Amino acid sequence: MGLSITNKILTNHLLEGNLNPGEQVLVSVDQTLGHDLTGIMAAQVLESVKPEKLSTETSVFYCDHNTLAVSSENADDHMYLKTAAEKYGLFFSKPGNGICHFLHCQRFAKPGKIMLGADSHTPTSGALGMLSIGSGGLTVAKSMLGEGFRMTTPKVINIRLTGKLNPGVAAKDIALEALRILTVKGGIGAIIEYTGEGVKTLSVPERATLANMSIELGATTGVFPSDEVTYQFLVAEERAADWVELLPDEDAVYDKVVEIDLNELEPLVARPHMPDLVSKAREVEDVKPNSVFIGSCTNASYSDILKASKILKGHKVHKDIDLTIAPGSKQVLEHLIRDGILADLVESGARILECACGPCIGIGQVPCANGIAVRTSNRNFPGRSGSQSASVYLASPETAAATAITGHITDVRDFMDVAELSDCSEPEAYRIDDSSFIKPGDIENPKDVEVIKGENISDLPMRGALRDRIEAVSVIKLGDNITTDDIIPGGSNILKYIANIPKFAEFTFCYTDPTFVERIKKLDYSVIIGGENYGQGSSREHAAMLPMFFGTEVVFAKSFARIHKENLINYGILPLVFKNKDDYDKIDMDDTFVIEDVLEQADTGEIAVKVPNKGLEFKTLLEVSAYDLRVLKEGGALNYLKNK
Ligand code: SF4
Repeated sequence: MGLSITNKILTNHLLEGNLNPGEQVLVSVDQTLGHDLTGIMAAQVLESVKPEKLSTETSVFYCDHNTLAVSSENADDHMYLKTAAEKYGLFFSKPGNGICHFLHCQRFAKPGKIMLGADSHTPTSGALGMLSIGSGGLTVAKSMLGEGFRMTTPKVINIRLTGKLNPGVAAKDIALEALRILTVKGGIGAIIEYTGEGVKTLSVPERATLANMSIELGATTGVFPSDEVTYQFLVAEERAADWVELLPDEDAVYDKVVEIDLNELEPLVARPHMPDLVSKAREVEDVKPNSVFIGSCTNASYSDILKASKILKGHKVHKDIDLTIAPGSKQVLEHLIRDGILADLVESGARILECACGPCIGIGQVPCANGIAVRTSNRNFPGRSGSQSASVYLASPETAAATAITGHITDVRDFMDVAELSDCSEPEAYRIDDSSFIKPGDIENPKDVEVIKGENISDLPMRGALRDRIEAVSVIKLGDNITTDDIIPGGSNILKYIANIPKFAEFTFCYTDPTFVERIKKLDYSVIIGGENYGQGSSREHAAMLPMFFGTEVVFAKSFARIHKENLINYGILPLVFKNKDDYDKIDMDDTFVIEDVLEQADTGEIAVKVPNKGLEFKTLLEVSAYDLRVLKEGGALNYLKNK
């Protein structure tokens, strides 16, 4: 039986277990990344363990999310990351150098390797044939400390691309078509492997758009073959030596195959408030946005912005629209400047932002109240943009640029002769300037580096070992598809406190339930009740850490999103799934839950829960590996690492 790319990479990295779907395995990790939201956590773990040497080949901290604060909080965080990187042997990427995933593809991603990144869009580097998986900062830190990565062997879904995109139709439209077909749950428990003749027609940045949005499909990651296109990209990045060919065997077997004919695609948009609510751009032409954003780790390549500039050239941005553009990296920005493209953008009325996440996560350019935004980013959950009332449509750079001129959502093919866009390709050779990275070799005596911990960085909250008798009150009952943004929202006024846990915790569920913090503070121990796919969205581990900080011991849910479940375990919170989903309807906020003999019951994987005030008892499942169980019993990963 032939092997998929996924199976080839996993086999090469297997340390424990067998690659049978659903079975837990331990794999080695070659690279890691973290940034100025999630990397702080990883740095704090390194600080508490103080390793002599990291186990990974390449680890990088990027400053790309929290770059615009008007007070000193972000600078504190950046200084902390910089000095921790210098002391413990990581690369450090300065603010302005670019968005982590985008930069990682350019400068570090290698075919055949495994990367763990403290960010859900880590799959972006799958564009180069690397298994690149998002996780929480604590899990990433564990892999830097030689613990490898424990994962459930995924299924492999093959998205087979045939044909070639027509001008005006973009990689983003393929990603949206995949979401239309598979939905945000279609990839759960799976890795998406992109193959087929159509793949050969896509550049590495186009592949990155698709790999990036694999996480929106609910998948563990997405991966592309490493082929001639990959080789040419690495040559252009002066990294030819990093190339190896990596293709699936001709007779590779997949758990599911989805065919997409690129010839048939047309410009698509995702409607508010889910990436899988997909329509043709022509079907929503009556939508009139107030703002348009072209950027993010999904769509901020040179060719993305070049296409936008060709559409904008000779036109002015519509009077009712605020257009912002953020190039993905300093390298892209420099090419845009030297090739004269930036002048066309500025002349059209576009505002150029720094090379960072920015609007994608509500750091600046928050839409107005009840506003409508068109964005080339990857998520449109409520609150993601920094505004709870805004409606965000996701689209390609081509659709976004045409929309910015006409003032309503526009299929670019109705706006211009799209044949003019056919020659918008990536540079044959990129300008290489790594001066905005501080490299491990740049530091003469790493041991002497003092890690500078400013006022904005609090100690990590810790909890005791798992209690053998839990008695706790439900503090909130939630529906399906609760996102990590619902649990702890984005926006610069909130995220600037990400390293200051007592302050950051004040915003927990602040939009979903403004009374949550006041109520949970009155409880010593609490539980949270969720529906299906609880904790979907980002890898933001604070969505687990903050409830733990307030004393949450259990989350009951119909099902959990993978990364969030991992984070709950890392923070010593029991992720319990209803054995009978109807029991969800029988329990409410303010009910008291009692679990006896927790330690013994946990060993069986089935835990009985009593609700004395209702005379009710129901069964739950604790679906975790033996390793995760040890972590839970210790009270979380930090305790586990310290006690090891
Ligand atoms: Fe940054 Fe947005 Fe990409 Fe997250 S999804 S890494 S916030 S650009």
